[in-house]
Amino acid sequence: MSLTSLPIQVLSQMLSKKEISSVELTQAYLDNISKDQQDPQPINAYIKVTPELALEQAQLADKNIQANKHTPLTGIPLGVKDLINVKGIATTCASKIMTGYIASYDATVIDRLINKNGMPHLGKLNLDEFAMGSSNETSYYGVVRNPHNKEYSPGGSSGGSAAAIAGELAPITLGTDTGGSIRQPAALCGCVGFKPTYGRVSRYGATAFASSLDQIGPLSKTVTDAKLLYEAMAGYDAQDSTSSKNPIDSQPLNGNVKGLKIGLPKEFFTSDLNEEIKNRIMDSAKSLEKEGAILKEVSIPEMIHAPAVYYIIAPAEASTNLERFDGIRYGNRQPANLLSETYINTRTEGFGTEVKRRIMLGTFILSAESYDSFFLKAQQVRNLLIEDYNKVFEQVDLILGPTTPTSAFKIGEKIDDPISMYLNDIFTISANLVGTPAISVPIGLNSQNLPIGLQLTARCFDEGTLLNGAYAIESLYLK
Ligand code: GLN
Repeated sequence: MSLTSLPIQVLSQMLSKKEISSVELTQAYLDNISKDQQDPQPINAYIKVTPELALEQAQLADKNIQANKHTPLTGIPLGVKDLINVKGIATTCASKIMTGYIASYDATVIDRLINKNGMPHLGKLNLDEFAMGSSNETSYYGVVRNPHNKEYSPGGSSGGSAAAIAGELAPITLGTDTGGSIRQPAALCGCVGFKPTYGRVSRYGATAFASSLDQIGPLSKTVTDAKLLYEAMAGYDAQDSTSSKNPIDSQPLNGNVKGLKIGLPKEFFTSDLNEEIKNRIMDSAKSLEKEGAILKEVSIPEMIHAPAVYYIIAPAEASTNLERFDGIRYGNRQPANLLSETYINTRTEGFGTEVKRRIMLGTFILSAESYDSFFLKAQQVRNLLIEDYNKVFEQVDLILGPTTPTSAFKIGEKIDDPISMYLNDIFTISANLVGTPAISVPIGLNSQNLPIGLQLTARCFDEGTLLNGAYAIESLYLK
């Protein structure tokens, strides 16, 4: 078995027993990455690889392990979605407008994982431009391919983060999730993708897309791995005004589901859901029932409005967040005689089509004439959705359903049809609007050998129950 096929939980034990070194492990990943770069059909998970930095940090990790000054994450290489700042390295957000921008500080997650825990930095991972997309096709740095079948999309926007796990180009990665961008690519690439509760993980140093929805989280091979990374980066941070002081409940994973109440929302199991996925999800739910879980049909009536609400709130917030990219403060500038022309030329040249679509939509939504009828209405419906979730969580501990309506789709299949692309997130968006934690766990392959993901959602700040439920699901498929 090759080193790069192992979960970080195992690698961590091998490192602390000194059976392997971090330099050896990091080099194994760098070799896989350079092999992929030479492939005529590369996965293209990375925008920038940082081999010198990674090996230097790996050497330091080995020294600290020798000196017994280490944590379970010391020496495990990390891949970072390229909208999270790593000091001294370019943050591109996969956009042309960011050309030339070098991060001047570390994001809080980078400070905790790399500086404090000693994880070597492999590189910056590809994504949809400014995290807007579900297929990784809107990146200025080219499409990412799904390692399960390179004709297919890995999903998005954290497509690089998911493809790196599936293609053994990183043992664990960071993604961000605004409407599903960790869970959807995790489902399409057959890995674990975990979005913590809003406010659990500091967003300081992550480029904002929609500030009331964004959350950083891990993508990994196993639930145990995701928990390890999550616990090392979660927790209060004074630099993020939405960061929560709620204590982290770290239960050991035992997969015990006896008496656990699991809700199956009927709105998840409609004709929009692919038959094969539906059957596999139901089989998994029934297996949990056999182990003592109590299944219950529940209803989230407002869920059908979630995509519409999201595609009002997210573009509105994005249009204001992206105002700062004007050619003066960051990245690329297209100079002109008038300042206003500099703004216009820079933004016209620098942003791609999808980003422009969102900015125009958001600006329209926030205009005086449409604010009440769109933005305010969407916030009201968002509140109704929150009430729906509160009611469901009075009856059950977890919500179980699919992560995506279909398995991976072909590259090019949906890019010219934004509505069909947007509907990819129909099952993931609600967790962002409500703020709940949610996770996608792989539950095998379909008849075309493409992965299927199951999604669990828990009450806000109940990551403990969520991760244990996910571990129970994972155990069904590892048996
Ligand atoms: N696919 C969704 C969008 O394009 C979600 C993106 C995300 O979670 N960053 O907005």
